[in-house]
Amino acid sequence: MTPCCFIMSVMSTNTAAFDRTTPTNEEPRTANGSSGSARTVEGIYRSAPFHWVGNGFYVSSYFPRTDLPAERVSPFLLMDYGPSREFSPLSNGQRGVGWHPHRGFETVTVAWEGAVAHRDNAGNAGIIGPGDVQWMTAGAGILHEEYHEREFARAGGRVHMTQLWVNLPKKDKMTAPGYQPITAAQIPTVTLADGAGTVRVIAGEYGGAAGPARTFTPITMLDARLAAGGRLPVRLPSTHNALAIVTDGRVRVGTRHATAGELVLFENDGAELDVLALEETHLLVLAGEPIDEPITQYGPFVMNTPAEIQQAFVDFRQGKFGDVPE
Ligand code: MN
Repeated sequence: MTPCCFIMSVMSTNTAAFDRTTPTNEEPRTANGSSGSARTVEGIYRSAPFHWVGNGFYVSSYFPRTDLPAERVSPFLLMDYGPSREFSPLSNGQRGVGWHPHRGFETVTVAWEGAVAHRDNAGNAGIIGPGDVQWMTAGAGILHEEYHEREFARAGGRVHMTQLWVNLPKKDKMTAPGYQPITAAQIPTVTLADGAGTVRVIAGEYGGAAGPARTFTPITMLDARLAAGGRLPVRLPSTHNALAIVTDGRVRVGTRHATAGELVLFENDGAELDVLALEETHLLVLAGEPIDEPITQYGPFVMNTPAEIQQAFVDFRQGKFGDVPE
């Protein structure tokens, strides 16, 4: 089953403030001995078991999950991560996910290896290759398909990518569909001092570089590779939610350690994230201003109320998402 189709309803009625009443995984504030402005770790979450999305993407979902409140990862809704995996040559057919709808949010696909061919009924098509990012705004409604690119599928090879779902605020949920094909060459790479590593700035700002992605709400998305002993400081407004997903390697954050396959959720209690790589590490930093609105998700639609979800199904059935192109 694919995330687009499985039946899941995450109902979240956000309260005005973050819920700080669950003191699990708390730690002393000055644990990392830095300036005192570094954020503490609120929790560390192991990725979920793997599942197939269509027949092309073998992924682990980091969220949504019941023990990680939707308001703590907002504006992000979902993260499916597929580590590097070899696919054998395919003589016939396609690997991936066929035509399906979305409404009310954005899908962001980041590729490190492999090639995914995307097509949607707003007239956009493209191939997402190593280092590329595709930022698609479903908005009021879109149909799209996501397959291993044909020549790549025929030859076989490694696929390594992630797909994120990014929420839209109520006022923008019914915006016209959009499409940002961001190539690797368009993404600035910041080199950290003292050989600590490199940071690709996909969205937001880092080290004087601005990420190319246009976003509806303030978002920071960093793709970082750290050397053993490398330190990644990230300044962010303390109101922004912040996550670091360790896809390879091992890090120390304050007194806590996180290893490959773990997500670090930071408290909103400081102006800086401070991550120390204990070995060669690849991690994604996701941060943004939370969207303080109710979330109702049902399959491929993410709206504010159940009535809006019902309307999405009605509109989809009545063909208001448009037709599949031929
Ligand atoms: Mn999709």
